[in-house]
Amino acid sequence: MSRMVTIVGAGPAGAALAAYLGRAGHNVTVYESRPDLRKVDIDAGRSINLALAARGIAVLEELGAMDVVRPLLIPMRGRMIHSLDGAQALQPYGNTPDEVIHSVSRSELNGVLLDAAEASGEVSILFNQRCLGGDLDEGTLRFHDDLTDTEYDVDVDAVFGADGFGSEIRALIQNGNEGNEQIEPLGHGYKELTLPAGPDGEHVIDANALHIWPRGEFMLIALADTGGTFTCTLFAPNEEGPHSLESLTTAESVTELFESQFPDFVPLTPDLAEQYLEYPLGRLATLRCTGWHLGDKAVVLGDAAHAIVPFHGQGMNAALESCKVLVACLEEYPDDWNAAFDLFERVRKPNTEAIADMALDNYVEMRSSVREEGYQLRRELALELERRFPDEFTPRYSLVMFHTMPYGDAQHRAAVQAEVLTELTEGIDSIDDVDFERAADLVAKLPKT
Ligand SMILES: Cc1cc2nc3c(=O)[nH]c(=O)nc-3n(C[C@H](O)[C@H](O)[C@H](O)COP(=O)(O)OP(=O)(O)OC[C@H]3O[C@@H](n4cnc5c(N)ncnc54)[C@H](O)[C@@H]3O)c2cc1C
Repeated sequence: MSRMVTIVGAGPAGAALAAYLGRAGHNVTVYESRPDLRKVDIDAGRSINLALAARGIAVLEELGAMDVVRPLLIPMRGRMIHSLDGAQALQPYGNTPDEVIHSVSRSELNGVLLDAAEASGEVSILFNQRCLGGDLDEGTLRFHDDLTDTEYDVDVDAVFGADGFGSEIRALIQNGNEGNEQIEPLGHGYKELTLPAGPDGEHVIDANALHIWPRGEFMLIALADTGGTFTCTLFAPNEEGPHSLESLTTAESVTELFESQFPDFVPLTPDLAEQYLEYPLGRLATLRCTGWHLGDKAVVLGDAAHAIVPFHGQGMNAALESCKVLVACLEEYPDDWNAAFDLFERVRKPNTEAIADMALDNYVEMRSSVREEGYQLRRELALELERRFPDEFTPRYSLVMFHTMPYGDAQHRAAVQAEVLTELTEGIDSIDDVDFERAADLVAKLPKT
């Protein structure tokens, strides 16, 4: 059944969903509050990137967009750990050359998805149109046109809320179905900085790694951009402790923090205090909610339904994967969208809960555990077990980033594997001391990948 579809939000989820539904022959109108990022530089000249991995790539492949995206990608083969003394050590992500994640410009990738949506011939995207609310039972949404500064109502049939963390559509749905939402602030936030290119436009540190300066309670990370710059992000407690973001209010305090904690970063970014004070502070939270849909009238997806903290590099990948899962549900119930939306929430929510938890775990891993010998031994052993027993053992990071098995299955499998790692590393401090005969026995009892 072909329906008149309204999508609110043209971020990664809204644009990808529009492409899927347009290709399926639905008549789609997308309303986006911001200007068209293909024409207007909404990041004010900054290059903000994110990590793309297997789940996002699977969707881009399905939408036929990977040929355009591939030249925009910078592969990252592992974490480059920067110690306080300036030493750098690479911790590879995987075992094979194709087990990499990709740094990509957020706006370029979003632009490709908008192009893919429009290429279906069934999708109109209206920019500068902010949804203010509406009445889903009556089938109307209210918008503000930022270009003319006017408000108007639109008749709607099926509404898809892809309008991010602060979703208006989620609020409308939950007014109607008594769903609930739980917003769990992390208590930590972030500041983005740009590490400039070298004199010839080159990257001044290794472009093919995700750089981390782990310092326990806080950390700095850097991902390469195609123009020779790096997008860097300082993650730290908002208020608590000597290195809280709120204590960094002057150029002196910013310089003091970077000189004492990230001394090798300082000479690479001469204007870091100015940048720090100029750019906005970002807050982080996990959103867990029930009641994702209102009958067959409306449903939410992406950050609007399942926003997570960014430490597994999976929020956008999960948002894209949700489009794929939702479309599969619509294919299963083409004439009953209430049943399709219901199935979507039932299938997807346990998996988005799983990645929400794994993303929280990964913050501790990135800012702290990566420095510990015990962690490094477990990581080394996990990769070695995968080399020796490829059908039986896959490290957790790989299950999430290089595979597309449901997140819940990845989480469960990783928990069972963690017990094997604990048993094999007990009382030893080198991989040479691992009892690989015992490992073979333990691994043989694991469920097959
Ligand atoms: C610091 C940071 C780093 C991250 N790094 C990664 C990473 O490396 N890898 C990864 O996979 N994910 C990452 N993420 C997560 C990722 O950014 C999000 O999960 C992803 O953008 C979600 O896509 P979305 O389309 O659901 O929502 P959004 O990207 O939030 O898009 C929502 C869209 O809706 C529009 N909108 C909002 N309200 C309205 C309204 N009322 N009316 C009309 N339009 C509206 C917005 O303008 C926006 O365009 C990171 C997030 C942060 C904060």
